[in-house]
Amino acid sequence: MSNVRSSGQPPRLPSLSLTHLPVGRLLYNAVVLVVVVVPLLATALAITLLWERAVHWADLALLATLYTLVALGVTVGYHRMLTHRSFRPHPAVKLVLLVLGSMALEGDAITWAATHTKHHALADRPGDPHSPLDGFFHAHLGWIFAETDADPRTYCRHLLRDRLVVFVSRTHLLWVALALVIPFSVGGLLGGWAGAFTGLLWGGLVRQFLTHHVTWSVNSVCHTFGRRAFATNDASRNEWIVGLLGFGEGWHNNHHAFPRSAFHGLRWWQFDLAGYTIRLLERLRLASDVYRVPPALLARRTRRAGGNGVVLPGARERETASAPTPGESILA
Ligand SMILES: [Zn+2]
Ligand SMILES: [Zn+2]
Repeated sequence: MSNVRSSGQPPRLPSLSLTHLPVGRLLYNAVVLVVVVVPLLATALAITLLWERAVHWADLALLATLYTLVALGVTVGYHRMLTHRSFRPHPAVKLVLLVLGSMALEGDAITWAATHTKHHALADRPGDPHSPLDGFFHAHLGWIFAETDADPRTYCRHLLRDRLVVFVSRTHLLWVALALVIPFSVGGLLGGWAGAFTGLLWGGLVRQFLTHHVTWSVNSVCHTFGRRAFATNDASRNEWIVGLLGFGEGWHNNHHAFPRSAFHGLRWWQFDLAGYTIRLLERLRLASDVYRVPPALLARRTRRAGGNGVVLPGARERETASAPTPGESILA
């Protein structure tokens, strides 16, 4: 399981790309289907089977609304705002985003930021909390049961001095409860006790299932499958399905290449709802100092990746590492 780490050898980064194998494409499609699409289809099937018995339009509206809000809490709040400081938020926006992120049940804000910073610092190398080099299942879910040992005093010491962040982190369980109380209450208001139950089921638990698997897919799928647009010293990849479901987080190779960028979708066709949200907040003057990748830097990194933006097999990836370049770093 952890043979790569214990051996002390550098990770075999390009070999993870199953698309390089003769049967790679079939295998690729099968795994992506299992990990990301099948649970969604199963949920759709459950909806059909239970229609007007245990699921109603109100339940789906609750599911869609809460999924969107919580996903933005994780992507815009926990990830781009808190961990990478991609923009400076209005204090009210900061509070709302941190609360929404907390409702994802992915740990308190400070712990999340510490773990993610450690991931960037050691991506696909010994010490990475959730690298698929320790096994795909480990990267997706197993790592949660392991000791990640990401000490906030090492990885995000500045957050320990941020009173708002400390407050939201210390009251984490309150926001977790809110993730269940809100759909239960709204469902109850709309349909009595039966509505409260189905509201909790779809707006609470199914929403949670989707949020977890989409987030975990960034760690597992996007370090295993998909295309690499930029040369980085990790196995990060762009996977459009996760990009779609994760509101832009699936453009993960872009993100590892430019960690501070507020926008993970770097091409017009790369759907990035989190990025659009940050742009909207900026227009509304609720966000400032939005970090954009300088066009010259983007062009230089694209050229370095082989001219067409795709790293060819055998490219000297570790040499053209994603080590922070001037104006570009993991945190600030
Ligand atoms: Zn990553
Ligand atoms: Zn990140």
